[in-house]
Amino acid sequence: MTDAYAWIEQSLATIHRADWYRSVQTINGRSGAMVLLEGREVINFASNDYLGLAGNERLIAAATAAVQEFGTGCTGSRLLSGHRELHQELEKAIASFKQTEDAVVFSSGYLANLGTITALVGKRDLILADQYNHSSLKNGAILSGATTIEYPHCDVQALRSELQRLRQDYRRCLIVTDSVFSMDGDLCPLPALLDLAQEYSCMLLVDEAHATGVLGKTGAGCVEHFGCTGRQLVQIGTLSKALGSLGGYVAGSATLIDFLRNRAASWIYTTALSPADTAAALAAINIVQQEPQQRTRLWKNVDYLKILIQEQLPNLQLLPSQSPILCFQLPSAADVLKAGSQLKSAGIFAPAIRPPTVPTSRIRISLMATHQAAHIEKLIEVLKGIDCDDLIKSR
Ligand SMILES: *Cc1c(COP(=O)(O)O)cnc(C)c1O
Repeated sequence: MTDAYAWIEQSLATIHRADWYRSVQTINGRSGAMVLLEGREVINFASNDYLGLAGNERLIAAATAAVQEFGTGCTGSRLLSGHRELHQELEKAIASFKQTEDAVVFSSGYLANLGTITALVGKRDLILADQYNHSSLKNGAILSGATTIEYPHCDVQALRSELQRLRQDYRRCLIVTDSVFSMDGDLCPLPALLDLAQEYSCMLLVDEAHATGVLGKTGAGCVEHFGCTGRQLVQIGTLSKALGSLGGYVAGSATLIDFLRNRAASWIYTTALSPADTAAALAAINIVQQEPQQRTRLWKNVDYLKILIQEQLPNLQLLPSQSPILCFQLPSAADVLKAGSQLKSAGIFAPAIRPPTVPTSRIRISLMATHQAAHIEKLIEVLKGIDCDDLIKSR
């Protein structure tokens, strides 16, 4: 008899051989622009906490007060066990922030994507998806049973030809895209996607995970950035990045949200967002709306890093980015691991992103509003110092 589980060890060995193996590193203390990584103080370029709100006193106070008042858990799904006014307040705040009729919060952004895509399309339908979409969008598409076609990254012409070729063969069609691409930092061509969606009678779902709190005049995201507020679409996002909490949301028409409350399995059959997470996210939205200076600081840091790179590392080619996510591509997974560990020993925490997350290996830098100029200057010094022949041969 063979051991039915033996393949797992072999599979892990294959992962190791490809330099695709991942393991977690322990952070101590509160999260921020500097963190203790395995006991050593490092500058944190590895966080999605763009506004530095995860360690913010007001979020901590709001979460603490909510735990004191309501306890730690919500004890069941919202339909069965009832929800809290806090949930409704948060949903109202999201809808008003996004200028949509309504919003619904999920326990994570991942679950929001799975639940929404599977509720909107099924076997008779078509999904057209950007090839660089987040895992939650890809898995939502698979779970829905719809025919899924990936179009080349941000290629509107290719999307149009797929629509011309396929649209009439399907009942409903859903175009799905990240708004800020999480592992690249560039933006989807939103206005063109909206026009195509209208022309071919498709729904459009945009994932604002890395845009919410970051892009747009009021921080409402990419939709606001492109002046598309009020257009009909399905906006998804997370409470766990710039909003410093945990959870996901969908914002859109009242009909859409009402429908999701009845049909999104990952909302119906899961426990409601905890009081602490809900209260922290609500406090974060208030800060984003009332204190644009946090966002200004973030964008100043982005500009400063880009300028220093241009001046001092002119050969270092960044992937095109219009967000606080800046990536340097390297030839192989082994190179990127080596660069990541050199950065770490020099006091810089920036993750090596490898396949299968992305097609090509890269170092991903994400900036925060709370980074000081000195943090960014140190990053430049370290990048200059590391053995970066390979860094320079990027695409
Ligand atoms: C992080 C992320 C998600 C998942 O959000 P969570 O709240 O962390 O589950 C979804 N989509 C994109 C594009 C993301 O980057």
